[in-house]
Amino acid sequence: MQFQNTLAFAKEMDEKDPLKKYREQFFIPNFQDQPIRYFTGNSLGLQPKSTGEYIQRELNDWAKWGVEGHFHAERPWFSYHEFLTNKAAKIVGALPKEVVITHSLTTNLHLLMVSFFQPKGKRTKILCEAKAFPSDQYALESQIKFHGLSMEHDLVEISPREGKHIIEEDDIIQKIKEVGDELAMVMIGGVNYYTGQLFDMERITKAAHEVGAIAGFDLAHAAGNIDLKLHDWNVDFAAWCTYKYLNSSPGGVAGIFVHEKHAKNKDLPRFAGWWGHDKETRFQMTKGFQPIEGAEGWQLSNAPVLGMAAHLASLDIFEEVGMENLCEKRDQLTAYLEYIIDDISEKHQEKCSFEIITPRDQKRRGAQISMLVHGAEARKLFDFLTEKGVIADWREPNVIRLAPVPMYNSFEDVFFFGKYLEEGIGQ
Ligand SMILES: *Cc1c(COP(=O)(O)O)cnc(C)c1O
Repeated sequence: MQFQNTLAFAKEMDEKDPLKKYREQFFIPNFQDQPIRYFTGNSLGLQPKSTGEYIQRELNDWAKWGVEGHFHAERPWFSYHEFLTNKAAKIVGALPKEVVITHSLTTNLHLLMVSFFQPKGKRTKILCEAKAFPSDQYALESQIKFHGLSMEHDLVEISPREGKHIIEEDDIIQKIKEVGDELAMVMIGGVNYYTGQLFDMERITKAAHEVGAIAGFDLAHAAGNIDLKLHDWNVDFAAWCTYKYLNSSPGGVAGIFVHEKHAKNKDLPRFAGWWGHDKETRFQMTKGFQPIEGAEGWQLSNAPVLGMAAHLASLDIFEEVGMENLCEKRDQLTAYLEYIIDDISEKHQEKCSFEIITPRDQKRRGAQISMLVHGAEARKLFDFLTEKGVIADWREPNVIRLAPVPMYNSFEDVFFFGKYLEEGIGQ
């Protein structure tokens, strides 16, 4: 497609956009009576206008029924999480029994690693990407220490090559082979939060399995952004939050995926709670934990219904849109942002330039562009954008991250980002 850096072109693209009506279904915050240009949907997704109704319904049932709402609410709370399962499973490409919505992301990572990180003999190592999201780094560190192992010996981090920002997949595969029978688990972010790099999870999983290791992924930046096929890729486990691309409220409920092949394995160690216990006998309150087969067996507690209601509101929109359609718009919108940045960078290269560190290949990224600002006072430029109502993400020393979210961002948003960026350079 031949893009143009003009408002008329952006408007025309929006007019032709088959998903344009979905923008209307979200609250876009205002800035000086104009909609803000929101590019941080990878940090906190915007609120669907329907979320309030979904939550209010549960508040009404709570007022009406008290404890009886567990069974008599319109959507009984006792099994509330089940209303979300099929829809969430479609988003990550899983069978329903492989998915459960529960707890928060870091909690889920820990629960899954308790089961799937089982160091034995010389097979004690975890392989992850360098500069993983801090919470994941702490989770891995504490898991390693929990087993009495050492960070120096048992954590293998893969870095980008000298002077590069993205990690070569070949290097990951090579390292997996090299560590070989000392490798217990690979745990990588499916999409890197910093560069926006999408990893080939199928290839990494296959390589991990070939050396007898487990493959798990953190999908915080992938769920609702990438067309995932966790079941087909044979991934062992995964976890994700729902407040980023999945627009399901700040700190909202999170997801767990456990591949079907582990569903019946009752010998996996786990930290258990009553909600993971066999549903038939849960209320007999007897001794002896009997896990539910599949992902539900990793639940600890009864469902936080208000957070789940927010997630359900959003899942219903994803169900209607479909990941395939979303990904089609995602690629166009992200490519337009890439084009705008390159265009401005070229025009103003005497003053400053922008170096995109996100992969240029659409197959290796989702709805994110991260760029380095060279030659200008990067922070001043970022602050100028903020003053103009562009909400982006800043990382020291000179990185701006932008997420053009296909669900509600427009081509016009991208155009205005570029317009203000140019104005900022001229300051
Ligand atoms: C956002 C994010 C988290 C946040 O974890 P919470 O438990 O939801 O606070 C963790 N890991 C990654 C990779 C993230 O992107």
